[in-house]
Amino acid sequence: MKILFKFAPILIFMTLTACTQKEKADLIITNATVYTVDENFGIAQAIAVTDGKIAAVGTTEEVLQHFSSDTILDLENRTVFPGFIDAHCHFLGYGTGLLTRADLTGTKSFDEILEIMKTHQEKFPSAFWLEGRGWDQNDWPEKIFPTNVKLNELFPDHPVLLTRIDGHAAIVNQKALELAGISKDTSVEGGEIVQLNGELTGVLIDNAIDLVRGVIPHPDKEQIAEAFLAAQEKCFAAGLTSVHDAGLEKNELEVIESLYHSGQLKMRINAMLLPSDENLEAYMNKGITKTDHLTIRSIKLFSDGALGSRGAKLIKDYSDDPGNSGLLLRSPESLAEYCKKAYDKGFQVCTHAIGDSANRLMLKIYGDILKGKNDLRWRIEHAQIVSPEDFEKFGSYSVVPSVQPTHATSDMYWAHERVGAERIKGAYAYQFLMQQNGWIPLGTDFPIEDISPVKTFYAAVARKDLKGWPSGRFQPENALSRTDALRGMTKWAAKASFEENEKGSIEPGKFADFTVLDRDIMVVPEADIPSSRVVMTFIGGEQVFSALDK
Ligand SMILES: [Zn+2]
Repeated sequence: MKILFKFAPILIFMTLTACTQKEKADLIITNATVYTVDENFGIAQAIAVTDGKIAAVGTTEEVLQHFSSDTILDLENRTVFPGFIDAHCHFLGYGTGLLTRADLTGTKSFDEILEIMKTHQEKFPSAFWLEGRGWDQNDWPEKIFPTNVKLNELFPDHPVLLTRIDGHAAIVNQKALELAGISKDTSVEGGEIVQLNGELTGVLIDNAIDLVRGVIPHPDKEQIAEAFLAAQEKCFAAGLTSVHDAGLEKNELEVIESLYHSGQLKMRINAMLLPSDENLEAYMNKGITKTDHLTIRSIKLFSDGALGSRGAKLIKDYSDDPGNSGLLLRSPESLAEYCKKAYDKGFQVCTHAIGDSANRLMLKIYGDILKGKNDLRWRIEHAQIVSPEDFEKFGSYSVVPSVQPTHATSDMYWAHERVGAERIKGAYAYQFLMQQNGWIPLGTDFPIEDISPVKTFYAAVARKDLKGWPSGRFQPENALSRTDALRGMTKWAAKASFEENEKGSIEPGKFADFTVLDRDIMVVPEADIPSSRVVMTFIGGEQVFSALDK
């Protein structure tokens, strides 16, 4: 491959003086397989980095001929990718969870959860609120929502909030219900307070959970800062160099800004703004924020709930729950109003839509405002169940479907029960969605799913779980090629936040963000992808993680 330089004049200069004078680089990487993810999907061997940016990419010989450096890293044939970008996650929520919440993912029964919460209380004896997250009744012997009877017995004096894996359902104990002022007569728009035989069960759906969340004391700035840093450490180890945080508040953004200022936060963040008046006043009204680390140019809306808790808004009733078609979390008028406000300010809109009805509604609202093809990159987050006649609207209005491949492989065990054999064909349809605009950003929605980009890649291309099930793949027609899956985690994820000129590929002039894996996931047998290990992660040419130090 021919060496590429930032500016053509340098190339001429270098050719003339290559024998006598080499340019000094801060870092040179050699002997690697470098997937540049440039226009031609070129593969190189070496990279030179200067001032946090990529100065040149080429063969080891070419780069060493033109550059010298005190730091030359021989990667011994490992594989380098552009730093992975998660286009939809909850970076702060994940960090907060690491510090304060019990991890309930993968639990096999409600009794197991009770045991975990007892241990959690022993670990945090001063905590008044006890929180856990990650349960999924679909993993239990009896796949039904629990009741809080045992929870009340175990924790009579401490409020307990245990959120379902998708964040759209929760079970709370009596103490929490009392503090939130929830009684049998309470009703809430866009939510449900579940009763059984005329008694509260403690199960809350969607907006009803906010009644409880609203009475939990907010973390102070110091705790928010700790959470960001805890999340950052784990994400670096997973090979992430940029994240799109799907919903942040003003005070949280202020913490991000001060952490960048002090040099502690290095993760690059595209922050979607939650649409409170205070947030919009502080960040949308002044226009787009764009620095090397922080981009704020979008708002996050929620149109419906989630499929697992039957809160996703469907056109027809749930196949396994006649009479129930899910919930809209906001009125169409209010959603449209926020969209218009954003449009006027030149902001991007990113709306959570899971059910086919919610997707149709958002495509209509977006379409009415955007009118035709455009480059505003308004996004539908998840685009999980789409009616066959609605797919082409993504193309007609250039709406970006922002999807999370591990959702497909987490939900494939039970999703068909919720929506039936016909509707499932338009569910988790990443290939169909990708074809509408020719590109698609990928993410995880962590902490709902694992943070690992490698697992995202595997789920996208294999459409199987980690045990290789199902052997025939889940809806194989909607798998992505390895090339497209990699683009979705790098270049296309950058494009989804208008950052494709700064990152997402290894090309001269872009940020020196890259991730080194122990194997080449573009060619290894599919079954060997999930066990890939991140060896090193670099942001702006700085090594922020190394497995070799451990
Ligand atoms: Zn999300």
